[in-house]
Amino acid sequence: MQLPSDADNTGRNFGEEEMQLLRRVIESGTLNCTKGTAVKEFEEQFKQKLGVEFCRTMTSGTASIHTAIAAIDPEPGDEIITTPITDMGALTPIIYQTAIPVFADVDPLTYNVTAETIAPKITKRTKAIVVTHIFGNPCDMDPIMDLAKQHDLPVIEDACQAYLAQYRGSLIGTIGDIGCFSLQQGKHMTTGEGGITVSTNGKFNRKMWLFVDKAWGYGDPKPDHYFLALNYRMTELQGAVALAQLNKVEDVVEKRIATAEMLTERIEGTPGVYSPAITPHSKHVYWKYPLRIDDEIINGGVDAFAAQLKERGIFCAPRYIQKPAFMCQIFQERNTFGSSCFPFEGECRKDDPPIVYNPDDYPGTMDALSHVVVLPWNEFYTQEHVDFIATNIKEVAEKLSN
Ligand SMILES: *Cc1c(COP(=O)(O)O)cnc(C)c1O
Repeated sequence: MQLPSDADNTGRNFGEEEMQLLRRVIESGTLNCTKGTAVKEFEEQFKQKLGVEFCRTMTSGTASIHTAIAAIDPEPGDEIITTPITDMGALTPIIYQTAIPVFADVDPLTYNVTAETIAPKITKRTKAIVVTHIFGNPCDMDPIMDLAKQHDLPVIEDACQAYLAQYRGSLIGTIGDIGCFSLQQGKHMTTGEGGITVSTNGKFNRKMWLFVDKAWGYGDPKPDHYFLALNYRMTELQGAVALAQLNKVEDVVEKRIATAEMLTERIEGTPGVYSPAITPHSKHVYWKYPLRIDDEIINGGVDAFAAQLKERGIFCAPRYIQKPAFMCQIFQERNTFGSSCFPFEGECRKDDPPIVYNPDDYPGTMDALSHVVVLPWNEFYTQEHVDFIATNIKEVAEKLSN
């Protein structure tokens, strides 16, 4: 059986709606968002959908994180707390803004950072906390927001994998000070590439608004280029597709939840295989479906399990990103700006302890990665697809268990 894939039209929902809006944009002759209306219209609709005051689009999810960090405006050598299980695009922007990513451990069952893992990482140089709702499962936000308030730290929510997810009735991305989204090909809604930030904080929004467009003060009485910034503007072509996609995202999310819950039901009780742990009071939106594999029951653990699933035509990713993000060369060798190792070393850190990235300090992360097999998920999965996946999971578990 061939499963729908988010890499092509078997698993993507582009259609007449996108074509009509694209046609309108092309015929208008305006492809740039400063002069056009599609991107502005999308920003208006997205902020209404999320119930926030401010929304700004940009060229990627990476650019959305970069824009959020720029709004925080860290001093060189400041620290930003984040997670070692994430996309590199959520980490390198921190360094571009001259700050240092400091990693909190994750809960091995939810793969998310928690208030307990963040708290010991807070120092006098901490400037912000980034929480990532990995695979679409919300972080436990109440204790995190309490902790952030105690220390007067802004919270950035990386909601790239968590469109319309909820925590205690609030939409993910609207709980912290800034929410970041990606419109990359594989996300719940997509324009191929693209990004969005939302905020209820006017000060942050003003900075983000400017950062996306070279910090030029459009509309101001005496506009100037106010500070260091880039061109991260989305095009009207992306704006057109984004508008059409926004009308479909609710349906995408509901379909993913329905089939994911079906799989959870089908595999319940399978020895050595556990369905995703959902944060209490939360709505998980299943960007992916992470299976936890008990290697004391499943011979060969995640590698053997995933190899068998792949042999049966079910693509999956054992160990997700393979190693904690801080084990990548960029962090281990500090390949940043020339040979300076900035901002990890130098004047900006002369009074601070060295930054150490050691897997031994991350038992939850190592546990999480060594026991996870990530299944892609898709809004086009049918009951037949779920049955096919469930049957193979159960057969493989049976075959590999003692
Ligand atoms: C996809 C993703 C990003 C980066 O988005 P791009 O659009 O690929 O730059 C950042 N964080 C998380 C959690 C993501 O899933």
